[in-house]
Amino acid sequence: MPAVPFNCSSLQGNELAYIRETIAIGQIAGDQAFSKKCQALLEGTLGVPHALVTTSCTHSLEMAALLLDIQPGDEVIVPSFTFVSTANAFVLRGARPVFCDVRPDTLNLDETKLEARLTPRTKAILPVHYAGVGCEMDAINALAARHGIAVVEDNAHGLFGKYRGRWLGTLGALATQSFHETKNITCGEGGALLINDVRYAGRAEIIREKGTNRARFFRGQVDKYSWVDLGSSYVMSDVLAAFLFAQLEAWPAIQARRRDIWQNYHGQLADWARAQGVTQPTVPAHCEQAWHMYYLLLPSLAARTALLTHLKARGILAVFHYLPLHLSAYARRWGGRPGDCPVTERVSDCLLRLPFFNSMTTDQQAKVIASVLEFQVPA
Ligand SMILES: *Cc1c(COP(=O)(O)O)cnc(C)c1O
Repeated sequence: MPAVPFNCSSLQGNELAYIRETIAIGQIAGDQAFSKKCQALLEGTLGVPHALVTTSCTHSLEMAALLLDIQPGDEVIVPSFTFVSTANAFVLRGARPVFCDVRPDTLNLDETKLEARLTPRTKAILPVHYAGVGCEMDAINALAARHGIAVVEDNAHGLFGKYRGRWLGTLGALATQSFHETKNITCGEGGALLINDVRYAGRAEIIREKGTNRARFFRGQVDKYSWVDLGSSYVMSDVLAAFLFAQLEAWPAIQARRRDIWQNYHGQLADWARAQGVTQPTVPAHCEQAWHMYYLLLPSLAARTALLTHLKARGILAVFHYLPLHLSAYARRWGGRPGDCPVTERVSDCLLRLPFFNSMTTDQQAKVIASVLEFQVPA
């Protein structure tokens, strides 16, 4: 392991005790005590009508595609600068992903480029709050409402961030969360579906339970359960929910620690960045970010490669991020070309993420900062 890894998971304190508790109760399948506690915490904190914990953000996105009844030939607009799952979950239902470029400042879906990508087949828009900074949701929601299109927030980075005073994840009809190891709050692999439009609530619990009405059966609302819709196995085990609840309960402390790490990077690297022609992240005044990552935009691919190598030589693992989806091997079938999403293409070459995790020590961060400050962008 490098002296400073890029990411490293850590305990908040109660994880193992809660896991022991759920095992002692004797019920470790899904929808047991800790799953309900996680859901109640998300619902209560964010003020969402329904939160369902799931096996991953990817699976929550698949649930969203099923809930929206996506059919072969339907189109969904996704940023080209995102994780594969944002698009793949809809492609599994036969949709065609329409890739949109991102804004050069926040690296979020460029709302000014959406209208040109609408067709009569457009069924959904998927804003991704990159690095936990909110997309321009007022503009996106207004456009979607005018055209009768659903908005699904891929909020994998944005839990506990806000846009104009409103929680990210509460702004689309549906929103998806990730509790993957690399996210602020984790149980290794896990996710949640936030349901803001309550019309989706009934089908969501069926889709999540293999297409059955088992949830209604457990509540005594039907006397047997059976196959009533499409679905799959998207329920989180209560062992993972126990781990997750210990992390979720500690969210204010986790977010405060991450804010300190982020602000320390931002402040200490500011003069160096200006002198070297390196761009630091932009956070608009109306966005309270979720402190998910710290990235730098180097002036070129060569400069980015040089800084990655420089840090690696000092035992520090920095990493790049998404490759443009419209140019991926699988997306070739939809005819993506270089130049279609110029901001995505440039950012993909030039972005570098610094080590950032909840248990990162001040010594580790000092080492990263000192090593970056030693680096000169090659002429
Ligand atoms: C991490 C991530 C996902 C996938 O999350 P999983 O929980 O691993 O399925 C999806 N979208 C974005 C933007 C992500 O960062």
